[in-house]
Amino acid sequence: MSMQSRYRFACAWLPDGWHRNVVISVDPAGDIVDVSRDDTVTTARTVNGAAIPGMPNVHSHAFQRAMAGLTEQRGGNDDSFWTWREAMYDVASRITPECLNAIAAQLYADMLKAGYTSVCEFHYLHSHVEASSEQHAHEVRLAMSQALIDAANTAGIGLTLLPTLYQTADFGGAPPTERQRQFSMQTREYLDLLGALRQSSQRSAQLEIGIALHSLRAVPPESLQMVLQSRQLGQPTHIHIAEQEREVQACQQHFGKRPIEWLLENAPVDRHWCLVHATHATNAELQGIAASGAVVGLCPTTEANLGDGIFPMEALLAAGGVFAIGSDSHISLSPIEELRWLEYQARLARRQRSVLTSAGQSGGTLLWQRACTAGARVTGRPVGELAVGKRADVVVLDLNSPLFAARNDTSIIDTFVFSGTSESVRDVMVGGRWLVQERRHFAETAVSAGYKRALQKMLKKERSG
Ligand SMILES: [Zn+2]
Repeated sequence: MSMQSRYRFACAWLPDGWHRNVVISVDPAGDIVDVSRDDTVTTARTVNGAAIPGMPNVHSHAFQRAMAGLTEQRGGNDDSFWTWREAMYDVASRITPECLNAIAAQLYADMLKAGYTSVCEFHYLHSHVEASSEQHAHEVRLAMSQALIDAANTAGIGLTLLPTLYQTADFGGAPPTERQRQFSMQTREYLDLLGALRQSSQRSAQLEIGIALHSLRAVPPESLQMVLQSRQLGQPTHIHIAEQEREVQACQQHFGKRPIEWLLENAPVDRHWCLVHATHATNAELQGIAASGAVVGLCPTTEANLGDGIFPMEALLAAGGVFAIGSDSHISLSPIEELRWLEYQARLARRQRSVLTSAGQSGGTLLWQRACTAGARVTGRPVGELAVGKRADVVVLDLNSPLFAARNDTSIIDTFVFSGTSESVRDVMVGGRWLVQERRHFAETAVSAGYKRALQKMLKKERSG
């Protein structure tokens, strides 16, 4: 008698490529304990379709999903990241823990249906009220973090919660503005929050606690050093870096260095770091990132939506650097759209095709594989591959869909990445649990009812800040 569950996939994409009749055995904890190829002997439940590893989403601000589509009306002549940020602050000021929970549960269920099986939540929305005491403030922060942990449990997605330190409005220690105060806290308060979350009894294979520093403009060097001293070995560490040109200029004025340049010289950046955006990077900085092993967290649809600029992807790859993808503001919730944009930006810039791949290689497959592998690293969780010892996070593509007609192995992922939709994803397993079957998330009725109620309530509220 075995406590394992076994699934026979018609075909599966393993670290060394496609195989047929792949039997994946999963233990009760949700880990893959055996993978056997060309196996028609073992008793197993048959799953039609093509199994590929689920994609880690390395950058999420869950609450921003509530404002998708609400900022597309041009405000003035200078509509930019900075004007968008004002609208975002307005939404943020209305969000209670209950509301955050409802938004995140819907968001995470939608991510699963699109093929993301884990998420790194870059969480800086720490408070929704003026706390009456330090203790109260701590409790409010815990409640906001808990709202996200509960939402991930409801949806079933793997979570790397990244409580985020945010202290200043700009370089040079400018205090947070009125509207930024709900994000900010003292370093000691941050370490208390981190400690409380790390000790929490809810730690499981589905939950990891990492560190996030909002950005160099929001975290002064002394605070950054203090937080990094408390960092545990291999703990995922994320930071927004060099997203906006204005930020690069302010950094140069203040430190005499560009943001990535300064970070690489002043922080122990290693392969567990995720440098989010890194949009405005010089070749020297890209080489420094590659040498450090850090992962660049790219969010092409958000970066395009906010007019950030085009990340020099081709140069990163040439330097030997690695990347992962995130949906950030959640203007789009599609890993294939993020990957496609990476390649298309490079094609438009070069006026060539298949830029991010080498001769004879399948571009879509390479993009999916690289984003999975590097993304897994900065989740701090064993995900990103269908292999023994990894979490059983599996996305099953519907090969019966006309889109995949007459596609051979190598063109399955290319077809998915460049022409697929969320409809191409039929089933999704996370940690051995089938969460999405026949394109339906098991809790979607309740989750969407909660989301709609929360949004109506939130958007009706008078502006409070
Ligand atoms: Zn972000």
